[in-house]
Amino acid sequence: MKTFFVFSFLLVINYSFSQQIYKRTLKLMGSRFDITVVANDSTGAQQYINTAVKEIQRIENLISSWNKDSQTSLINNNAGIAPVKVDKELFDLIFRAIQISKLTDGAFDISYASMDKIWKFDGSMIKMPSDQEIKASVAKVGYPNIILDKDKSTVFLKLKGMKIGFGAIGKGYAADKAKDLLITNGVIAGIINASGDMNTWGKQPDGSDWKVAITNPLNKNNAFALLPVVNKAVVTSGNYEKYVIFNNKRYSHIIDPRTGHPSTGIVSVSVFAPKAELADALATSIFVMGVETGLNRINQLPGIECIIVDENGKIYTSDHIKIDN
Ligand code: ADP
Ligand code: MG
Repeated sequence: MKTFFVFSFLLVINYSFSQQIYKRTLKLMGSRFDITVVANDSTGAQQYINTAVKEIQRIENLISSWNKDSQTSLINNNAGIAPVKVDKELFDLIFRAIQISKLTDGAFDISYASMDKIWKFDGSMIKMPSDQEIKASVAKVGYPNIILDKDKSTVFLKLKGMKIGFGAIGKGYAADKAKDLLITNGVIAGIINASGDMNTWGKQPDGSDWKVAITNPLNKNNAFALLPVVNKAVVTSGNYEKYVIFNNKRYSHIIDPRTGHPSTGIVSVSVFAPKAELADALATSIFVMGVETGLNRINQLPGIECIIVDENGKIYTSDHIKIDN
């Protein structure tokens, strides 16, 4: 009996020293995801990662506007026709998205989505849309025309042809949800990285903090800051992957919902926040708001910081962030 006790005690000690980092990279929501967990053994780690993957796929099925059968597609197909009853989860996500629209004076707007008929960033665009086309498409944009009924849990897009899309908030939301689920399942530390939208918890097995390297997209091999991310989210949004160039001007895939014109001037934004969902939406908004308004807005929000790189490579930071060059 006594020997058994000593033996199991040693086993526990040994276990706590054998925590390791396990990581899987895969494509989800049309993007690259890196899921990292700290666990005692590979079998357990793979199970945890499978749990996260299933959760992200579940969310994708709910919010994807590519998937014809999703509740989001149902809302879009019924624009101008009828309210659609949706799960509380989707209702709440749309409610929060509208709050962020109000916070950013409409720079962030999930109803930007009808503009994907005129702005395409898959290489298929050969000329600028005309002013008339832009005007016509922007007429279908505007969060005040998203009508929510909390009691009935319905969403109604008032105008025919109106559309919502979660391109600027969905990956952040998925990162938050996967993190929460793994914590509930007892995973002590990890990182969910959804193509640059990441949320972390716990510490590395050697006791050190998770860190994120911030790079200048104009000089990618050279990280200019390595910052600790302790139980919070950091999201980096850039226009260096999806953009079109007309007359030597680079137009990003982030569009000003009020004018219908793509944002210009900023090449990268990183936002630090308690949740990846908010960080994701704010990063997109800063592209639209521009450097000055973007910094002002972030400086008024407690617990939220940002780093902006403009098209000349100039780096701007919010008030409470320090980077040593
Ligand atoms: P990424 O994750 O690709 O770096 P973002 O998180 O900034 O980029 O999201 C950009 C995507 O958000 C666009 O591809 C589009 O789907 C959508 N989007 C574009 N403009 C807006 C906007 N003003 N408000 C909300 N969503 C937008
Ligand atoms: Mg975003």
